[in-house]
Amino acid sequence: MIAAGGAQVAFLADMVGARPALLIEITTYVRILRAITVDGHIARVGRLVDTLDGEDADEVTVVRMSRHLPPSGPPLTEQRHEEVRAQLAALAPSMPMDELLEQNEQLLRALDEVRTQRDELARLNDELTETNRGVMALYIQLSEELEETNRGVVALYAELDEKSAQLRAASEAKSRFLANVSHELRAPVTSIIGLGRLMTDSGSDPLTAEQIRQIELIRGSATDLLSLVNDLLDLAKAEAGRLEPTWADVDLRVLFGQLRGTLRALPARPDVELIVEEPAGPALVRSDEVLLAQVLRNLLTNGLKFTERGEVRMRARRLPDGGGWWALTVSDTGVGIPPELHERIFEEFYQVPGGARAPGSGTGLGLPYARRLVTLLGGSLEVASVPGEGSVFTVLLPPSDGG
Ligand code: ADP
Repeated sequence: MIAAGGAQVAFLADMVGARPALLIEITTYVRILRAITVDGHIARVGRLVDTLDGEDADEVTVVRMSRHLPPSGPPLTEQRHEEVRAQLAALAPSMPMDELLEQNEQLLRALDEVRTQRDELARLNDELTETNRGVMALYIQLSEELEETNRGVVALYAELDEKSAQLRAASEAKSRFLANVSHELRAPVTSIIGLGRLMTDSGSDPLTAEQIRQIELIRGSATDLLSLVNDLLDLAKAEAGRLEPTWADVDLRVLFGQLRGTLRALPARPDVELIVEEPAGPALVRSDEVLLAQVLRNLLTNGLKFTERGEVRMRARRLPDGGGWWALTVSDTGVGIPPELHERIFEEFYQVPGGARAPGSGTGLGLPYARRLVTLLGGSLEVASVPGEGSVFTVLLPPSDGG
């Protein structure tokens, strides 16, 4: 039996239901109702023991419980009883006061621990607040930087817009200027040519051979100047968007026939043959006949200009899997163009250096103008060429609606 706190605990080894068991009887000094103890506080203990019961007496409440001892355990001899008794006696505090002190100390220790934990929590909290402040500051700084960058980008865009508007305006001004100047130049240059012709006319006063030679030189130069002015005017018009194609179904067979006729009239080299192949079957493209004729004539004249022997050939064929598109090619067996210059020849005034300068050499405006026209007609103009072997210029054109 042990007296602990406000209760007395008795341990008893006995037979319960023909089996050895440990009986524990707790008697409280003050009356705590059975309903509170057995049915209330220690009800869960019932699951650990085999029996649990209690009763309320006058001044006390008694709680009894028992637990069967395992059959495999050591036999309950008198000596074993003594040992257990001694162990239990050692567990019990000698005086209620001692126990109070012990509990106080435990309470103080727990309090200390709680205080340490609270301090630690406060420290962690401080750290968290500090980190939060840092994160906030970083966030604000990044937001500001982002806003600043955004403002810069917006300003850049505005500047870019302004610059491209300026560029557009400058380009339009250039085209307008070219169109006006070339237009204004045409009349005086034409009159120089006319006057030259008049002066050498048989009806005019006779001139010396030297004077005639000089006037011919003036006329030749004026003719070159006129063709330059005309080319410039064409290009400026195309650039200024002043050229409006007159769309129609163009029969390539008719167009090719006309070109064959006009080009035959050109002074030809004896060793160069001009072949214009008749397109097989109906060959209709949706295009502007005049502009397309201008492009093809330009390509053919170039071919004749840069070919010393062999042939210049024009043909039309439908691309096999090109949705009805037409490929018009002008090929020659002339000097050819180095590959690195294939794009440059489409720039204004560019002429391949050291190229065979044929009579009536041009202005370097023919190809850029031709490409502009073809683009205007909804197609494209490309070149393939091998120096010393020849060139192939290809005009790709969309088919007419009717096929
Ligand atoms: P132009 O013929 O008046 O000089 P183009 O713009 O028509 O101007 O052609 C630009 C340059 O491209 C020519 O000067 C020439 O050097 C080169 N070129 C054009 N067509 C041919 C061709 N069929 N064969 C070789 N070179 C060519």
